[in-house]
Amino acid sequence: MNEQLDRLLDHCIKCSDCQGVCPVAAHNPQYPGPKLLGPDLARIKCAGGAKGNTPEAAGELLRSLEMCSGCQRCELACPYGVPVAQLIRQNRDVLQRKLLLRDKMLATPQVLGQMGTAIAPLMNPVLRNSLVQKMIKGMLGLEMEQPLAFASRKDLLQPTLRQWAGAAEGKVIYFPGCHVNYQEPEVGRAFLQLLDILGVKALVTDQICCGMPLLAAGNREKAHTAFQRNIQIFKEYVEQGSQIVTTCPSCSLTLKKIYVEELGTEEARQLASAVYDYSEYLEQYSSCLAALVHPLRERAAYHLPCHTQAQGTGLAGLQLMRLVPGLELNVVDDCCGQSGTYGFKAEKQGVSRAIGSSLVWRIASIEPDIIITPCGSCKDRLSFASGVQTVHPVQLLNNACQK
Ligand code: SF4
Ligand code: SF4
Repeated sequence: MNEQLDRLLDHCIKCSDCQGVCPVAAHNPQYPGPKLLGPDLARIKCAGGAKGNTPEAAGELLRSLEMCSGCQRCELACPYGVPVAQLIRQNRDVLQRKLLLRDKMLATPQVLGQMGTAIAPLMNPVLRNSLVQKMIKGMLGLEMEQPLAFASRKDLLQPTLRQWAGAAEGKVIYFPGCHVNYQEPEVGRAFLQLLDILGVKALVTDQICCGMPLLAAGNREKAHTAFQRNIQIFKEYVEQGSQIVTTCPSCSLTLKKIYVEELGTEEARQLASAVYDYSEYLEQYSSCLAALVHPLRERAAYHLPCHTQAQGTGLAGLQLMRLVPGLELNVVDDCCGQSGTYGFKAEKQGVSRAIGSSLVWRIASIEPDIIITPCGSCKDRLSFASGVQTVHPVQLLNNACQK
């Protein structure tokens, strides 16, 4: 553990505030929770270093590390600034487990996406077949009741970064992320249209995954390689003063926070300072957008994903939605339980669905015409579980500008 993390660990006074907000602990009585798996386990590891105990002394705690969904709610709740989720990630290092084929597939959404989009017309109907879903679950431990749906190759966003010419001033780089790139390019198109309406010149990168799925799968070495590659790809543009904007809360959280925590380098900090969530970036155009949007008479459930809350951009996104006259907003901020690839793992299906069911119940009580959420995996989960049309905020804003 690094020295800074060591120091922050000492700030934990065992108040248990983090325990109270953990969605996994709330729905799985066997789960020890963030206080035990974060600061407590880190202390055991530190003490082990001094007294010669092996980390295996923590037994059951170590086995439970796999059940953390990485939502970061514990870290947000800690009144003493203890980086609980970071400690849990570091504690996982001692597990040294062999990754299953399923975990390797989920850890590389770029490879999966490239294969899926190449054969989308064939692949999508197959993945919707319930018999195929049962076989995949039995053979790979992949829960496919909510099947992946790949975009067709002809619909994908085309990278434009290679056409970069002249000064960087007035241009932004759009980082779509794997979900938009391979499953929902229509979200990316809506964002680019919106920027075009606002007179912003945006360029799209050749996609390299942000690396978060690799880290979530416990492959720190390969995750760090992906982090370093992205830092090098964007270095030149960041030095020219360009801003990098994402529409995916998990990508922006990773680029802004996790790279710095994991690498601790000046280059990682430099990239982080240039990355913006779409909501932070669009804030400066609020008055312009307010003049452009037409009324939408709809009742919406506005969902705040965990990773939006973790980077403090929830209010910025909500303020953008408030620009649309006639839109009735009902905010829901619970975890949907999907947590990226977490809900696709068969052994986590029970807790994942239990977490999501209370959110889906809350949404049903609102009786919304639409659900709005910026996270791709929350979007898929909520639309599947509720049957309500679910859109990204940039899609809604772009629609409101067109009407
Ligand atoms: S990590 Fe923070 S919230 Fe959790 S027990 Fe320690 S001080 Fe309390
Ligand atoms: S990151 Fe989320 S699931 Fe993991 S311990 Fe913290 S609150 Fe619980």
